[in-house]
Amino acid sequence: MIRRISYVGIVSMFMFGCVGQGANSWSETVDSSMDQYWTEDQANEILSKTLRVHLAPALDYLSAGEREALGYLLEVGQIMHRLYLDSRHPDASRSYEELQRLGTAGLNETRVRLLSDLFWLSKGPVATTLNNVRVPFLPVAAETKGKNVYPWGITREEVDQVLSTHPESASSVQHIRHVVRRNTSDNVSKDLEMLKRFPVLAELHPGLESRLQDLRNGESVPSLYGLPYSVAYAPDIVRAYRLLHRAADAIVGDDPAFARFLRNRARDFLSDDYESGDASWVTGRFRNLNAQIGSYETYDDALFGIKTFFSLCVFVRDNERSAELSNALSGIQFLEDSLPYESTRKIDDNVPVGVYNVVADFGQSRGANTATILPNEAHLSTQYGRTILIRGNILSNPDIFATARISFEAATNAMHHADLTSAGNLYRTFWHEVGHYLGPVRTLDGRNIEEALGKASNALEEMKSDLISLFAVPHLLKTGFYDEQTARSVYASGIRRILLKNKPRREQDYDTMKLIQFNWFIEHGLLRFDEENETLMIDFSKYHSNVEGLLTRVLAAQNGGNETKAEAFIEAYTNWNESVSGVIADKMKATEKHRFTMVTYDAVDQ
Ligand SMILES: [Zn+2]
Repeated sequence: MIRRISYVGIVSMFMFGCVGQGANSWSETVDSSMDQYWTEDQANEILSKTLRVHLAPALDYLSAGEREALGYLLEVGQIMHRLYLDSRHPDASRSYEELQRLGTAGLNETRVRLLSDLFWLSKGPVATTLNNVRVPFLPVAAETKGKNVYPWGITREEVDQVLSTHPESASSVQHIRHVVRRNTSDNVSKDLEMLKRFPVLAELHPGLESRLQDLRNGESVPSLYGLPYSVAYAPDIVRAYRLLHRAADAIVGDDPAFARFLRNRARDFLSDDYESGDASWVTGRFRNLNAQIGSYETYDDALFGIKTFFSLCVFVRDNERSAELSNALSGIQFLEDSLPYESTRKIDDNVPVGVYNVVADFGQSRGANTATILPNEAHLSTQYGRTILIRGNILSNPDIFATARISFEAATNAMHHADLTSAGNLYRTFWHEVGHYLGPVRTLDGRNIEEALGKASNALEEMKSDLISLFAVPHLLKTGFYDEQTARSVYASGIRRILLKNKPRREQDYDTMKLIQFNWFIEHGLLRFDEENETLMIDFSKYHSNVEGLLTRVLAAQNGGNETKAEAFIEAYTNWNESVSGVIADKMKATEKHRFTMVTYDAVDQ
């Protein structure tokens, strides 16, 4: 899971190579008349509200081998980024190339530059407006829920219909690393062709070739089929495989464990099964470099929430701060035992946690994310654990913190303003990630929680972790990990975290669970809206009981595994009250300097 400060991304430029082969065909004609390009004013409306952050962590202490490996990883990152753009929108690459061509064909240079900036900020041709609406700013079709990993524009009902008449296709159609295609002879022929071109893929996916042939020849065949990402994006994936091996060769002398991870991950790319790479990633102890590589998060799949999207992030480790946080984990079993549900879990306190500085981010992970915990797949996290990567140079960035402070001060009573510090943010983030380690592993009747809760699972899992980071405060105060002031600043940060400038769309899982917390805290007295000053008052004496109450509900929902009930709970607590949430949102908007964060990197050319 990834924590976001803002849902828009980091900008960097790269040359487009071949367009990803996995694009589902896009035949509808788009009128690319000039008036479909946003004007300078439209682009500026968003870009003038965008904080630019440049990350340039020190790399001079890396060995020559580490530096060479880093170079190869950045190349893989460019591939991941291109695949990400392509899997979100079939016209992402084409629309960007056309924009650049217009730049040389007379379109105002400033306008091209602004739209290019917007493209990188938005990670594609569709922007999020200040009113939280997704709108194309280049001449492309409006976004669809299933993005480009399903047939463009397909409905949930159509997929469900196919699965009910052909249950045997579920394992591929619902696979986290398969695109879904329409069964047309053109599609099937192209995919078979790809297996011929890369025979290793046919070997690593036994039965795939004959399954595809059956689709072409058989009778009463399903109208949809799933195809492994490795085949859908074969040329790019095979290139990434080779580059990861080169990186491993470069670093094996200095950091053999990291080299083994890279080789395992390279093979995972071809098999679409991440077990070997995840095992060596989570259990490996590396020297200076670390990297999140591949497709993990499902946030972009607004149709079913099951397809993962590509990303790559390269980190360098901050050894001193990592040690401090590792030591704090010795009491983690106590925390699990005190959670408000019946737990018999034994937690390994050897959690691989580290504080890292981000060197560069590509694809889905690009943005001002503050931390990562992976893998998500339950069978892998149960067997090998999960690695926690806290993003130090994002969390300690003074400009990002200043933006958070401005919102907090607009929304809360002046008596609370001094409570918020950047240390509070760091520790809350850390314990949020630890929170993902705790709580139920399966539903009470033994099902996988993510599958059982479906579309509700992400929002509940994130809310659980938010609440655990706050639930832990009295315990950590008692053990001396927090002093009074830090504890209070973690609490203040917990409130800052849930302040929203817009009513969230339901598919925005993070903002949805923030609104639930906000409404719960209002209902139960932790927050009170002072109508005279139009600000929030925080009653710290009610903090723990409010958190415990909501956490009890969330853990029960995870134990229960009933998607309908869970969605009903979400629905009940996502009411947007204009006279409270609306007023606070307007106050924050009135003082805000920045809404979005755009991060650039020394390591990546602009
Ligand atoms: Zn999280």
